[in-house]
Amino acid sequence: MSALIPALAAPSDRPALRCGPDTLTYAELARTAGDLAARIGGLERVAVWATPTARTAVAVVAALLAGVPAVPLNPRTGERELAHILGDSAPGAVLAGPDDVLPPGLAALPRIDVPAGAPAPRAPGAAPRAGRDAIDPEATALVVYTSGTTGPPKGVLLSRRAVAASLDALAEAWDWTGRDVLVHALPLFHVHGLVLGVLGPLRRGGEVRHLGAFSVEGVARELGAGGGTMLFGVPTMYHRLADALPHDPALVKALADARLLVSGSAALPVHDHERITAATGRTVVERYGMSETLMNTSVRPGAGPRPGTVGTPLPGVELRLVEEDGTVLGAYDGETVGEVQVRGPNLFSGYLNRPEATATAFDGDWFRTGDMAVREADGTIRLVGRKATDLIKSGGYKIGAGEIENALLDHPGVREAAVTGEPDPDLGERIVAWVVPADAAAPPAASALADHVARLLAPHKRPRTVRYLDALPRNDLGKILKKRLPAG
Ligand code: ATP
Ligand code: MG
Repeated sequence: MSALIPALAAPSDRPALRCGPDTLTYAELARTAGDLAARIGGLERVAVWATPTARTAVAVVAALLAGVPAVPLNPRTGERELAHILGDSAPGAVLAGPDDVLPPGLAALPRIDVPAGAPAPRAPGAAPRAGRDAIDPEATALVVYTSGTTGPPKGVLLSRRAVAASLDALAEAWDWTGRDVLVHALPLFHVHGLVLGVLGPLRRGGEVRHLGAFSVEGVARELGAGGGTMLFGVPTMYHRLADALPHDPALVKALADARLLVSGSAALPVHDHERITAATGRTVVERYGMSETLMNTSVRPGAGPRPGTVGTPLPGVELRLVEEDGTVLGAYDGETVGEVQVRGPNLFSGYLNRPEATATAFDGDWFRTGDMAVREADGTIRLVGRKATDLIKSGGYKIGAGEIENALLDHPGVREAAVTGEPDPDLGERIVAWVVPADAAAPPAASALADHVARLLAPHKRPRTVRYLDALPRNDLGKILKKRLPAG
């Protein structure tokens, strides 16, 4: 297999990374990361203090060049979770910026400084270290911890083969080339920000521009006329962009001029899809993936708007829906709900230190995603929620929380919404809506919200209880943490 980042083998002056004042060409990245790779070679695993900076990209590329699995750490992880991840992954050192203040939990680890920019020019004749990439494709490239939405984070072993396969499938589906410049504002410790957002452009020989932190102004400045051709975001970012569009002609133009706007990590509410399309004429392309499988499906650019769907399987990915009794759905009717199972070269190699969890996650070579979906007659997948938290069994029906959340968000009085099931003597489970009102002083009446949902969807999808909150509990990617909703 060819190198994961072919452009490092023939270094050029093309820009690779730009993050604030730090910029690196491919030649500079090859040298900086190559020098660092020489210092970590031989370690079994290395942790990366994954701040949203060029340093994180340099550190991860160095680990790839050295063939040492990198464990990206979320700098905002709490003490307990950090201790869990460090104990589980046992890194031999931590790569961090010289000014980064590391928490006490990392004090026992040798610390290796990551330079931000290019190193001093090398003496003539000195051999470049980067680009020798004869590492086994099955070797682990990254150990990425899951978001912990449904339980303690699990260390996902991602091989070089899986990373390459998923990035190449996306390139094919999105016509993603080295001419693309990605505007990026996501954290760098999950697959979305790190694999898609950093390794994706680098594998194509293109450029990553990281904003450091998301801002509407940053997107308006960098995308379109600013040179950026693509934007990867999570729903909370698109929600903020949608809020800003009516008052920001420069933002409208930036989004309208971009080649590709992609959303993932959680469902983008239909309402936000529609607001963005109405203001810019552009469709946000939604894709669906996870730490264990990298990317599974995507709406195809140019296929027309399909709000509420995640498109069709990516090249090389096989997908099936399996009912609770194990029946594999044969025909697609757009209604029957099943668990999404996938197989393909994009799959992970197993959970670190969890052979039992790995075994139960698979049915033969099919990975059980834990996500529930229906498939339309044309093959398009519509996720209805997670098996663990989003599937409500009420009055003999199986109801996905997602469509009720979308219906609630369609109500002008609702800013944020989450839907759960609670035990009910009559119905088995009762639909509960958690609502952040648009105007805290005048929340919409529970009966008005219930009627709205029943009118848009069906009477049996009517929330029986509505609870009002100031904000929904969310993680760093903006995913709603339903387990942290206050006990009813
Ligand atoms: P944990 O596995 O620890 O509970 P997690 O599943 O949230 O956490 P990730 O691997 O980061 O951790 O997230 C993958 C999940 O995100 C998917 O299983 C799916 O539920 C959700 N997801 C990703 N993309 C989309 C999307 N476009 N629409 C809806 N959900 C999505
Ligand atoms: Mg998961």
